Amino acid sequence: MYTRIEANGMPRKVRKTEKQWRQALTPEQYGVLREGRTEQPFSGTYNEFWERGFYVCAACRTPLFRSEAKYDHGTGWPSFSAPIDERHLIFKDDYSLLVKRVEVRCAACGSHLGHVFDDGPAPTFLHYCINSAALDFVAAEPAAEKAGGAVPPVRRPAAQDGPDAKAKGPRKPTA
Ligand SMILES: [Zn+2]
Repeated sequence: MYTRIEANGMPRKVRKTEKQWRQALTPEQYGVLREGRTEQPFSGTYNEFWERGFYVCAACRTPLFRSEAKYDHGTGWPSFSAPIDERHLIFKDDYSLLVKRVEVRCAACGSHLGHVFDDGPAPTFLHYCINSAALDFVAAEPAAEKAGGAVPPVRRPAAQDGPDAKAKGPRKPTA
């Protein structure tokens, strides 16, 4: 199962105490996701990993990145040129290394994932530098996270149900 995505495209918030996170995650995952640590370069499971599918937050299973967006930046961490949906992420300015970086967190559970830089490939030029320990891989066709109900299409407000919508299938007659 994946984190429920609300009609506005935002994932539903996942809240746990730090004690619960500690129990749910491995020490390495906890260090990265909840304490903002960075795993050693070239050490992570997904640095040299090119299976077809998508990646979810290791803490709460919100779909984050597709394998098509993964590329080798040569820095030793999984790199992605774009997320599945920016609304699944939180972006925070990070001055911990004196130079400004942009931290990337999971929008559902607030866990630290990595950083995003602007030295990526065209057309986005974005370089999401993400810790392997923050990710879980799901082997599936890229659209499966939609088919499985994780990222349902945004529901149209009822007001938009016009004659076109009626034509598509049986529907209760409206007054
Ligand atoms: Zn999460």
